[in-house]
Amino acid sequence: MTDTASQTPRLRVAPSPTGDPHVGTAYMSLFNLAFARQQGGKFVLRIEDTDRARFREDSEQQVFDMLHWLGLHWDEGPDVGGPYAPYRQSERLDTYRPYVERLLAEGKAYHCWCSTERLAQMREVQQKTKQPTGYDRLCHGKTREERAALPGFTETPVVRMLIPEDVELHFEDLIRGRVSAPRPDDQVILKADGFPTYHLAVVVDDHEMGITHVVRGEEWISSTPKHILLYRWLGLEPPKWAHMPLLRNTDKSKISKRKNPAARLTWFREQGYLPEALVNFLALLAYPPAQGAEGEDVEVFTFEEFSKDFDWRKVNPVGPIFDLKKLDWLNGVYVRGLEVGELASRLLPYLVDAGVLGAEPTLGELARLRSVTELIQTRMVLLTEAAPLVRPFFVADADLEVADDARAQLKEDAPQVLDAAVAALTELGDERSGVLGSESTWNAAAIEAALRAAVVDGLGIKPKFAFGPLRTAVSGQRVSPPLFESMEILGRTSTLARLQRLRDDLA
Ligand code: GLU
Repeated sequence: MTDTASQTPRLRVAPSPTGDPHVGTAYMSLFNLAFARQQGGKFVLRIEDTDRARFREDSEQQVFDMLHWLGLHWDEGPDVGGPYAPYRQSERLDTYRPYVERLLAEGKAYHCWCSTERLAQMREVQQKTKQPTGYDRLCHGKTREERAALPGFTETPVVRMLIPEDVELHFEDLIRGRVSAPRPDDQVILKADGFPTYHLAVVVDDHEMGITHVVRGEEWISSTPKHILLYRWLGLEPPKWAHMPLLRNTDKSKISKRKNPAARLTWFREQGYLPEALVNFLALLAYPPAQGAEGEDVEVFTFEEFSKDFDWRKVNPVGPIFDLKKLDWLNGVYVRGLEVGELASRLLPYLVDAGVLGAEPTLGELARLRSVTELIQTRMVLLTEAAPLVRPFFVADADLEVADDARAQLKEDAPQVLDAAVAALTELGDERSGVLGSESTWNAAAIEAALRAAVVDGLGIKPKFAFGPLRTAVSGQRVSPPLFESMEILGRTSTLARLQRLRDDLA
């Protein structure tokens, strides 16, 4: 037997490819990885695809994509390989077989030929008569022939563990200390289809892959006695366990993909959250904020900072509330903290998706996007919020749509304001006024000065009302990035065309 304490830590996350990856997979990966990196250990991705009924073909790739998106990279896994390949349980069926045979030969496990109908009936009777539910061991000690003579028989047997009277129900957990779990039923370990169940596969694989720490959700606490038993029967050194709390909705219920869209990892990317904000958010769930130099709470931190001081004992076993308001706040912090060019490139796929830009933007478009990004960086929380703000800068003047609410708030003096603005801006950068007729005089400060002189001072209209029609003309919206800067980016020709267009519309 090896001493796990002296080994390099090896941790794993073991998602089942049963649909859109669950946010819990990222949560588990993060905590596994934080400890693995701190200890100079390894992080393994294992795909637990033994449940063929719930298997979904595209799910595995989504797991890869989402964990990579979050920057939670693994050292070994089905895609990158490693010394313990294969890392997909469906490809390891031959590995499990000898373990099952050994348990059968030693009388620790037995065949069960009970049909699903019989098992369902048995459960119903147990429930009605208020007896504890569990397998009644009808098949135990019987040969196939003996059992075949009784009702409720199927040709294809499963294999069950024979849980002894003195099964150990306590174990040490890195987060929870001493934990006790209920007495298990005679758990099926090999299914009729020849696939192992999770319980056998997890023990065999964690052993074979040299896993030293099993970090998983608290829903597995009740299974741990079965796993301890299997380790003992097979003469294997058990790993250390850390059962993470389940994430909860604001009403304290368990987060499920059926009820909460935020249970799906892909949802966060669709909504326009930054992966680093989500990682930071997950790190704060059931875990205290970092401490600053003055002992103050520091809620914004990187994965490296999190990993450096990570300690299982700091994990709070009470299910943390999944509060998206906090994530929104963090996302805003990260959005504002990004270098402008970086933010622009993060926005790009969302803008392409929204049809604001084509799949292959020109260099000119990218340069313009960078300028616009600078204007909107403080005006958004989610990356998806950029599209309506950016769109006006990428539509032809003649195609700019004026939103109904923007049009509705135009006052009677709008034509007058637009006329004055057109005149002032035509003047600006026009040779006759003595200013050089080049785009270099076309800048936000000069535009603002010209418009203030012409509209605010010239017509005696308060700035608040003076600039509304101009904003509507250039952006089509009531709310837009700063007006003068927007005009600078659009350029003189486009700005004038848009002002004139709305003016003509109002004629
Ligand atoms: N396949 C299990 C799950 O998806 C893994 C549990 C474990 O980490 O042992 O929850």
